[in-house]
Amino acid sequence: MEKEYDLLIVGAGPVGCVVAEQMALRKGWKSLIIDKRDHIAGNCYDRVHESGVLIHQYGPHYFRSNKKELIDYLGQYTDWIPGNYEVRSSFNGSLYPFPINLLTLGQFFNRTFTAEEAESYLNEIRVPNDEPANSEEFVLSRVGKELYEAFYLNYTLKQWEMHPKDLNKSVCGRIPIRFNKDIRYVDHEYQLTPKDGFTEMFGKMIDNPLIDVQLETDFESIRNTIKPTKATLYSGPIDAYFNFQYGKLPWRSLDISFKDFKEEYKQPCVQINYPNDHPYTRSVEIKHVTKQESANTVISYEVPTWEGDPYYPVPADDNAALFKRYWALAQEENKSNNVYFSGRLARYTYINTDEAIEMALDTAEQIIQDAER
Ligand SMILES: Cc1cc2nc3c(=O)[nH]c(=O)nc-3n(C[C@H](O)[C@H](O)[C@H](O)COP(=O)(O)OP(=O)(O)OC[C@H]3O[C@@H](n4cnc5c(N)ncnc54)[C@H](O)[C@@H]3O)c2cc1C
Repeated sequence: MEKEYDLLIVGAGPVGCVVAEQMALRKGWKSLIIDKRDHIAGNCYDRVHESGVLIHQYGPHYFRSNKKELIDYLGQYTDWIPGNYEVRSSFNGSLYPFPINLLTLGQFFNRTFTAEEAESYLNEIRVPNDEPANSEEFVLSRVGKELYEAFYLNYTLKQWEMHPKDLNKSVCGRIPIRFNKDIRYVDHEYQLTPKDGFTEMFGKMIDNPLIDVQLETDFESIRNTIKPTKATLYSGPIDAYFNFQYGKLPWRSLDISFKDFKEEYKQPCVQINYPNDHPYTRSVEIKHVTKQESANTVISYEVPTWEGDPYYPVPADDNAALFKRYWALAQEENKSNNVYFSGRLARYTYINTDEAIEMALDTAEQIIQDAER
């Protein structure tokens, strides 16, 4: 006889793992997690490359958060090491600290700046606009034409195959501009990486007799046969759940290739952006983050593409409208069949891992409240 489960979880990514763990620990629920891939941890999956170097299979994951409670929660399943996320951008054969800071400005304009001098200089060269309507207007209004063309324009074209004029201002608006010499990629208070990797951390999280995992299993192949007694947590693409009845939500993907070198380190920092040269957008040497001791190193190269796994939702108004129509169906499905839609694929949103984990904790809370009603 088939085993009975309280909860069916589609997707063994961060969201699936956190919800399974919460429901086991807080309610004693038995879960089955399925994933169509042959591993857990979703896009956070890391593995040992043939050269012996730990790599991030689906692009580099720079873990960061401003919440101590989140770090403490995950700290039950991992030790941490400092993040060390430093990015440089290549322009005319030189590498510039990125995001733009005082050092970038000094190197680019060949002079030194204090914070005040830099602010007043950018005020002179920026294109004033109180209400930028898209990414191009936004960046021009912050840093002016020269820096926009050096660091943003071609990177965005390559990443999205869309002009910054046609992209929501939030796309480039996420990148800070700093009037100090902070060379870190992000501003968050906690910039940490799991000491033995993300897969290990999520593996420990779901190492519980109440949680079963079935890999290489697509939801479509079991949706009519595995019926949980209490609820379903779905963290796959929302349009696929509803058989694409309103059409497909577009995603941008990456073709990621790995190359190993018999050297300890190959590049000066974890990530180099190539806005203007090469078909790839960035080269990443994750060893700068993992701090693994090895005589070898591995670099990944990312070429954006419309084929392949869904990585980045395309931020445009018509896609948001299409998602809304699916979301209305999801709410109905929740009411009638206790299906919960959570995570970046189900919500058609770009979220970082810390945000995905917070979303999963909220979803678990919601499942518990509904079950107690
Ligand atoms: C290129 C890239 C770089 C990133 N960099 C960072 C970073 O630097 N820092 C950071 O914090 N975050 C980063 N992220 C974000 C991070 O990967 C996500 O926030 C996190 O993985 C979301 O967790 P999730 O569980 O919602 O989705 P996912 O990790 O995508 O997991 C969903 C799982 O569902 C499975 N699935 C989908 N459909 C089905 C189906 N029909 N049947 C069975 N299984 C299915 C998938 O195989 C997948 O394993 C990055 C993401 C990408 C794509």
